[in-house]
Amino acid sequence: MRKKGSLLAVLVLCMGLGGCRHIMPFSEDVATAGTVPEGSSASADVGIPFKSRPRDEEEPSSVSKEKEEAGKDTTGTASENEAETVSDADTAVETGTLAQARRLAAMYDYDGAIALLQAEPENEEYAAEAARITEERDSCVAWAPEQVTHVFYHTLVKDTALAFDGDEDTAGYNQVMTTIDEFNAITQSMYEKGFVMVSLEDMAVKDENGNMTRQEILLPPGKQPFVLSQDDVSYYHYMDGDGMASRLVVDENGQVKAEYVESDGSVSVGDYDMVPLIDAFVEQHPDFSYREAKGIIALTGYEGVLGYRTDGVYQTRQELDELQQKYLNAHPDFDWDEEVAQATQVAAAMKENGWAFASHTWGHINVGESSLERLKTDTEKWLTYVAPIVGGTDKIIFAFGADLSGAEGYSGEKFDYLKSQGFDYYCNVDSSQYWVQLAPNYLRMGRRNLDGYRMYYNPELVADLFDAKSVFDPARPTPVPEMG
Ligand SMILES: [Zn+2]
Repeated sequence: MRKKGSLLAVLVLCMGLGGCRHIMPFSEDVATAGTVPEGSSASADVGIPFKSRPRDEEEPSSVSKEKEEAGKDTTGTASENEAETVSDADTAVETGTLAQARRLAAMYDYDGAIALLQAEPENEEYAAEAARITEERDSCVAWAPEQVTHVFYHTLVKDTALAFDGDEDTAGYNQVMTTIDEFNAITQSMYEKGFVMVSLEDMAVKDENGNMTRQEILLPPGKQPFVLSQDDVSYYHYMDGDGMASRLVVDENGQVKAEYVESDGSVSVGDYDMVPLIDAFVEQHPDFSYREAKGIIALTGYEGVLGYRTDGVYQTRQELDELQQKYLNAHPDFDWDEEVAQATQVAAAMKENGWAFASHTWGHINVGESSLERLKTDTEKWLTYVAPIVGGTDKIIFAFGADLSGAEGYSGEKFDYLKSQGFDYYCNVDSSQYWVQLAPNYLRMGRRNLDGYRMYYNPELVADLFDAKSVFDPARPTPVPEMG
């Protein structure tokens, strides 16, 4: 019963429900005329066979609670650097500079690379390298914000046997989750097609007058920009035992990894979710990241963040729901302050590695359907319990793929409120290849779900990114259940 209720969280996670009038996702997405390119076709996502009631609505507990670097040798330069390094100690320093410059250039920071090399103008090798990098820079093509696509995932499935074990959660996971094998295949395909991760700031930033100003993304021919995000990286209680990671941690090398609880109860640490997988991929392929950009992690707050139980209810132990109480019972030594400290440490390491954070609303609420008062209460909780851990944010990625309005520009009291709370970047869900709206006071962007449902039913909608038929994990039960 609990499982069923809580599964809704996953199902509705970030997806649009058929009933949402103001959303562009899925069933509604074709209607956003004007901005949506032709051919972006209505998807068949007509809604999800579950109703979701966001977390903070007071409801009887039976049915509710449906919550829901620098100087580092890089590929391609490593061997020559090693060769140089063996010569003597003096050239080891020079090698460091050269490697650092090459890494910067590989990540498209040509000016940074050139400046580094020109700091020692007498060095002929540096001068030659600077000339080469200058040539590459001058060959770059500018991309406008409106030409940037955005893809997103939920928590990745590590163990398909557990996720797709036939219990009541299976259908939902099959629809909206992506397996690690699929994720790796998609990432490899996107890399081979020349995709490069950029940040929302690479698209537009606020100028000194507070106006959003478009930026140019400069990439060499053959490369194209995209934004990556992942929603609900909370490792909700209901996912325990379902074959997904349990939390993110910082390992002894300062790298962010995922913990996974094995069936015997032992804990493994590894690349079991998107953050460590992307970190490892960029380490191997620095040209997959534009000037160190990684993805955006959209966080709710009601069961904490990143697998840490940091919400206020775990501190006060008031108004705990069944799963939260069960968790605390199973962890008699639970220390809320320590939990917050660890989550903060992980978030800091992620930011250091290029990751950004967004609000996903505290209680996974539908902003389109919520009253202004509810939006305020929810946002205050996010600002109280999540913002201090991640260092605040100016980004909000709406839950349920909901939105504040249709394709017309934002206005009204909800937008005014969110803007007053510091939000400048807004994301919904949309299956179009590009959906970007840049206004003087905000940047708004649609995101494409890359999950079981999309791959199974609309492989053509992701054909620019990867071949869904070859990526689709054979461990998935088929057909993937229909929505609605
Ligand atoms: Zn969500």
